[in-house]
Order: sequence, then structure tokens, then C-alpha cells
Amino acid sequence: MATTNHAERYMKFYNNMIRLQNIQSEVHIAEVWSEALMQNTVQSSSGCICSRLQDRDCINGNPRIGIPSAIVHLYNEQVKRRKVPVSWIAAYLHDVLPDQMQCDWQHFQLSHRCIVGDCVNPQHLCWESASTNQSRGYGVCRVICTHCRQMLCHCQNLHDPHCV
Ligand SMILES: [Zn+2]
Ligand SMILES: [Zn+2]
Ligand SMILES: [Zn+2]
Repeated sequence: MATTNHAERYMKFYNNMIRLQNIQSEVHIAEVWSEALMQNTVQSSSGCICSRLQDRDCINGNPRIGIPSAIVHLYNEQVKRRKVPVSWIAAYLHDVLPDQMQCDWQHFQLSHRCIVGDCVNPQHLCWESASTNQSRGYGVCRVICTHCRQMLCHCQNLHDPHCV
């Protein structure tokens, strides 16, 4: 399986937003993204904030959102209109960044600690390797410890940060 440079592409997106905001102050980029992101969200009892945005290009998992026209305009038509994963927007708005001191960070994925693909709660997001991402949520992580009543992942430090 080919590994893709998710985190590297995310940092390009993130830095683009910072750069655009610095050269242009008429549009408050974070506000535009925040409004676009929070349309049709549903909060669950487990603390997830799930996006109900429909994405017909995305069959399952992390839905994506078109770049709002106000932000496309700032690019001076240098980029084509593209879609960005909704989790990237949450990460951008809350400064959830990959640790660039870690080996191979460029290939990290934006992982859901809650394993809910359309969740945009920034506290449920972290950058980590594809293999760590894929190992989340398997049986034992979500078992409730009989001693402390927390999920075993938390109690036994199976993942860092632990699954929620
Ligand atoms: Zn969640
Ligand atoms: Zn325990
Ligand atoms: Zn876990």
C-alpha cells in the first residue's frame, strides 16, 4: 500500500491559510471556515461533534468540504476549487499540528481518537502514523477496566494520546 504525504499536504494548506490572512485582512479566514465547518453538525453523548455535510466524492469516512468562495477569491484564482477534509478544517482552526520533530511526520495521518470518521471535535484529533491510526479502536482499547472504570486504552496507555 502506497503511503501518502497527508501531513505534508496539510502543512501546505495550513501555511497557505496563514499566508493569505497575513496579506489580506478583509476576509477573516478562520471565521469563514468555522461557519462552513459547523453547518449541520450533530453532537453525540460521547463528545463527538459529527459533520453531516454530504460529500458525494467520499463514500465513507472523513467527508470533505469545498473551499468557500471567499477564500478561493483570496488565492487570486491561482488554485482550482478543491475539497479539503472537514477534519483538516477543525485542525486548522484549533492548531492541531503534526510534530515535525518526529521521524516520517510527512506521512502522518489526521487520526480520530474516537474512530468516528466525520467527527470534527478538535480534542478527538491527533496526527500519527498510518499504522498507529489503523490500530485504534480494536476491541481491547474500548474495553472498560474493572478497576478504574475507564477504557483500557486510557488505563493501560495503549495509545498516546489515548482513544476516547
Ligand atoms: Zn469524536
Ligand atoms: Zn484501570
Ligand atoms: Zn487505543
